[in-house]
Amino acid sequence: MTAFNTQLVHGETIGDNQTGAVNPPVYNSSTYQYRSIEQPAHWDYARSGNPTREFLEKQIAQLEHGVRGFAFASGMAAIHAVLAIFKPGDHLIVGNQIYGGTYRLLNQYFKEREITFTAVDSRDLNAVAAAIQPNTKAIYFEPFTNPLLQVTSVKKISELAHKHRLLTIVDNTFLTPYLQQPLTLGADLVVHSATKYLSGHSDVIAGLVVAKNAELAEKIYFIQNALGGVLSPQDANLVRRGIQTLALRLERQQDNVAQLIKFLQHCPQVAGIHYPGLPGSADYDIAQDECRGCGGVFSFELVPGVDACQFVDHLKLFKLAVSLGAVESLAELPYEMSHAELPPEERLAAGISPQLIRLAVGIEDVTDLKADLQQALMVVSQQPQTSIK
Ligand SMILES: *Cc1c(COP(=O)(O)O)cnc(C)c1O
Repeated sequence: MTAFNTQLVHGETIGDNQTGAVNPPVYNSSTYQYRSIEQPAHWDYARSGNPTREFLEKQIAQLEHGVRGFAFASGMAAIHAVLAIFKPGDHLIVGNQIYGGTYRLLNQYFKEREITFTAVDSRDLNAVAAAIQPNTKAIYFEPFTNPLLQVTSVKKISELAHKHRLLTIVDNTFLTPYLQQPLTLGADLVVHSATKYLSGHSDVIAGLVVAKNAELAEKIYFIQNALGGVLSPQDANLVRRGIQTLALRLERQQDNVAQLIKFLQHCPQVAGIHYPGLPGSADYDIAQDECRGCGGVFSFELVPGVDACQFVDHLKLFKLAVSLGAVESLAELPYEMSHAELPPEERLAAGISPQLIRLAVGIEDVTDLKADLQQALMVVSQQPQTSIK
């Protein structure tokens, strides 16, 4: 078998291409001809499967060491498909810092359909164990949370889950299979917002699922085909192309993160930095043990009196935007942007203060990124705080 970086570039051939084209073709056809009634086609109708999507689905299955992959029209469609394997009366345990859209889906959609859940700090194994009920079916969490980058051990959660015959479901968006492969650490299902690192260029919305065994794969395939939230061939091709440079992009992003953190550690306007790759951080050991690296996202607090809104407004190269994992650097204020839907007291309880900045670092020259942070810090340290929060 080929090694990881080769798999990123080449994937696995699906035997559809007789032209010699070095890239797998994009098939726009919605329907496929039968040779005869006795010989149904492998691909017959493109919602059920098509060669362009299948290439990507095989590739992500290979990269994540699962038996089968599935591509969806968004990360949320992928998460919906995974949660749709449960039945009314089932109970789930979920991390209390999961993606807001996932929480909304559980709390405002699945709960009404009698799939209940308990949100706990997934880092606390005792709390997770205490939340197990007779009807609990799975533990769903993100190994690195957003925006504080708190780390949960996939190994430990999977062990606990197996002991209680529960499924372990991991949203691996923040790490990608380059940095962590949850199925090899014991998880059963992996989901991705491929909108982020996997596609890597902020030009596609996509989601992926990988199943560890044939039984789960069968269930996910049924839902993918029955609900129909599939990824289009064009978008499947964009994700495939993004995946080819995943390792290179992540290496550069992580190098840039390391240098920006080194710079910020010496800035008097910066109070604390959240990145598990930082020696001395609370989660450093788990991250070292289970991940190849900690990715391109980190967050930090500005000291009281330094206006965080003004700071992000004065950034020039860092674009003020949600999302992450792409070639360009983005900055956001979780309190005002990605987490604004939570009531203020919940934001504060979750450690999301108005002073918290999240950076999703791209692949630009780090000297320019550093200069941008520096000039914005200069501006805000010279100005009195204007907005009152
Ligand atoms: C963005 C994101 C999602 C949702 O994915 P979409 O592609 O936006 O639907 C789910 N989980 C995490 C961790 C994300 O960052």
